[in-house]
Amino acid sequence: MAHHKTLGESLRAHGVSRRGFLKFCAATASMMALPPTMTPAIAAALEQARRPSVIWLSFQECTGCTESLTRSHSPTVEDLILDVISLDYHHTLQAASGEAAEHAREVAMRENFGNYLVVVDGSLPGPDSNPGYSTIAGISNYQMLMETLEGAAAVVAVGTCAAFGGLPQANPNPTGAVAVQTLAGDKPVINVPGCPPVPMVITGVLAQYLTFGKLPEMDQYNRPLAFFGQSIHDRCYRRPFYDKGLFAETFDDEGARAGWCLYRLGCKGPSTYNACATMRWNAGTSWPVEAGHPCLGCSEPKFWDAGGFYDALSVPPGDTGSTLLAAGVSGAIIGGAAAALAKRRQKADLAERQPVKIDELEQKL
Ligand code: SF4
Ligand code: SF4
Repeated sequence: MAHHKTLGESLRAHGVSRRGFLKFCAATASMMALPPTMTPAIAAALEQARRPSVIWLSFQECTGCTESLTRSHSPTVEDLILDVISLDYHHTLQAASGEAAEHAREVAMRENFGNYLVVVDGSLPGPDSNPGYSTIAGISNYQMLMETLEGAAAVVAVGTCAAFGGLPQANPNPTGAVAVQTLAGDKPVINVPGCPPVPMVITGVLAQYLTFGKLPEMDQYNRPLAFFGQSIHDRCYRRPFYDKGLFAETFDDEGARAGWCLYRLGCKGPSTYNACATMRWNAGTSWPVEAGHPCLGCSEPKFWDAGGFYDALSVPPGDTGSTLLAAGVSGAIIGGAAAALAKRRQKADLAERQPVKIDELEQKL
């Protein structure tokens, strides 16, 4: 049965070349911030890894996370990593429907009890909400999550909705939506936020789990540090312009055409932790800031309620006045202070953020 094949056997059966496989392992090592010398060890571990059963639950979501996943270039080893995972239940991708689909979930849970991975995209109405707000196969999302979590080894919350509540939880949160981690009890949770997440980050997290058979090192929001350890701003190619204080003021001015920093157009890069600037999108073709658009901060908690996309950086209330005002006068210095605050804020609990317009800050300086 395919479940008992090792990953290496499955890859060979799919015609994946040794070179292609090693390339993926090298990229995985790099993503995990490991030295290239670790590539053979990763390759050996992945070759021997057994295909884990994965049950993928989609709740209140837009299917963008699955769309992102399926947009990875084909055929690549990244795609095949997913093929060789035993994806036993996925509403959107599975051929079965109705009772047959639910039967597949029940069988996978029974046969792999204690060992399967649950992947969730979308948030869900909490236990105190009307269960009829979102149902699948006649049961509430809450009931489905609870019964599926029972025999799970770990949970991967894919996308900002699953990780932090996302759009369904945005004010006024009509369905009482909650993030998966609030219901997971003692089950380990790996959050892979993004709206949607970078495809290679999703596959990379799964590969990392397969390779080492344990949870990755994570930040206080349960995001794997290998992918979310640095801010967009830390790795942005427009950073030299930011450091020189060269900012585009509109989307079509001379600065925008010259590729200057998008901070004043609302870029949330200094307070956003994600891998877009290094992994990029569409098979490494480009990413939003390279396409001329500010980072929206989609991988951070509460980003939908954090103020206008095109307002200058949102910073935590309370920290705003004194630290920023003491920081200095130029936009770059304000941005640097905001970035430092964001890093400090990362050490604190989840908190509301409020938008602060750069013009207002500058007027006070
Ligand atoms: S503010 Fe945005 S555009 Fe400017 S350097 Fe930082 S991430 Fe890049
Ligand atoms: S650039 Fe920012 S808003 Fe865009 S996908 Fe990356 S983290 Fe999300």
